[in-house]
Amino acid sequence: MSVTDVINPATEDVVARVEQTSAEETDAAIARAHAALPAWKALAPADRARLLRRFAEAVDADVDHLADLEVRNSGHTIGNARWEAGNVRDVLQYYSAAPERLFGRQIPVPGGVDITFAEPLGVVGVIVPWNFPMPIAGWGFAPALAAGNAVVLKPAELTPLTALRLGELAREAGIPEDVFQVLPGRGSVVGQRFVDNPLVRKVVFTGSTEVGRQIMAGCAAQVKRVTLELGGKNANIVFADADLEKAAASAPYGVFDNAGQDCCARSRILVERGAFEKFMELLEPAVQGVVVGDPASEKTEMGPLISAAHLASVASYVDTETPVAIRGSAPEGPGFWFPPTVVVPREATDRIVTEEVFGPVVTVQTFADEAEAIRLANDSEYGLSGSIWTENLGRAMRVARGVEAGNLSVNSHSSVRYWTPFGGVKQSGLGRELGPDALAAFTETKNVFIATEG
Ligand code: NDP
Repeated sequence: MSVTDVINPATEDVVARVEQTSAEETDAAIARAHAALPAWKALAPADRARLLRRFAEAVDADVDHLADLEVRNSGHTIGNARWEAGNVRDVLQYYSAAPERLFGRQIPVPGGVDITFAEPLGVVGVIVPWNFPMPIAGWGFAPALAAGNAVVLKPAELTPLTALRLGELAREAGIPEDVFQVLPGRGSVVGQRFVDNPLVRKVVFTGSTEVGRQIMAGCAAQVKRVTLELGGKNANIVFADADLEKAAASAPYGVFDNAGQDCCARSRILVERGAFEKFMELLEPAVQGVVVGDPASEKTEMGPLISAAHLASVASYVDTETPVAIRGSAPEGPGFWFPPTVVVPREATDRIVTEEVFGPVVTVQTFADEAEAIRLANDSEYGLSGSIWTENLGRAMRVARGVEAGNLSVNSHSSVRYWTPFGGVKQSGLGRELGPDALAAFTETKNVFIATEG
């Protein structure tokens, strides 16, 4: 049996030791999940709804504990971590309304009646990255369970603690043990079994585009369903007619939240040329005002990066030659710290402009007009999110329609609401999570014709 140390990224202390699930144990868990399906599917819709509400209540009662675990395991600020635990509760609550509304249709046909049923898929495998361990897990397991599927969940090796706790809370709430199982372990072992084991009928994957491609190829071998939420390199477009104070005050939080380890981070600021000087003047105090430090402190706005390896990766984008325009602060000493950093790149083809840094680093480029703003925003293999700052509503809508991204916000850096759809285009992913339509991603439509003549 292999055991992994779980490290606090703010202190580098070991906070827990977690047993890794083997390939054989993963297959056994998948088999148990499969065996549990008929009873879970047969449960009266109101009873399944009640169990999901109880699960939400158990999470609600445990918010402070879950948040504390996330602060220690992931270095998330306590404010963010509480929001993240609350998000799991809210997503469970939202989808608890679904079991009683999973109805099909009656379609007119000659010679009989035709009715459709929304049937669960079977066992669903959810693979979660380390950057938002709680919400991303919930966006997969809550609608999957509501639709009558059984779930096997693999947290990231670096951040398993809150997922394990959510598994305990599900059991305490009365969700049958085999219907929701949390399997900590390696992606190449546990995650790979979700792809290869034919009893798993859908894989919900959030992570890097590179691994997403492998998952999609693996699922293709069995024509297995897949939802992919992958990387992002999102544009924050600021027009000269915008409220520049507001745009500049918001920009650091649109990219440095969660230390920039956010697929929706607005990591490319595009400013209309005439407003560049003024915008940079306003941005400087906003960046230097970001409070970086002990994630357990209520005042902290940005914590550390997740690991030494990730710190090295982020640091590789900023060397002594990099044209850094603004640099915030970061603690010295133990922990994987990197300061908020603003770069005015030399070329639009620089690696720092084109690649997802996944850290507290943002570039600022200028554009001449609407057409160039859209062209620059779309000059990326990714298409997840973005913001548009302007006082001109017509322009906001034109640009929003022109930018190739799944989630855009006008005069805001808001990205995710559990009651609206979320997902990317191009190499940012495939399929949508959250919102009222997510249930369709966890059911198959069955069509039944009943002859009524002779
Ligand atoms: P990875 O793709 O490396 O890992 C994501 C998850 O996949 C982890 O649980 C990992 O396991 C697992 N995994 C790794 N290899 C395999 C495999 N061969 N088969 C099955 N599972 C596997 O991404 P990161 O963890 O580094 O996360 C960062 C990336 O995720 C960024 O690119 C970011 O943009 C993206 N992301 C996208 C989001 C979105 O909604 N679009 C949201 C959040 C992140 P383990 O690490 O334990 O080995």
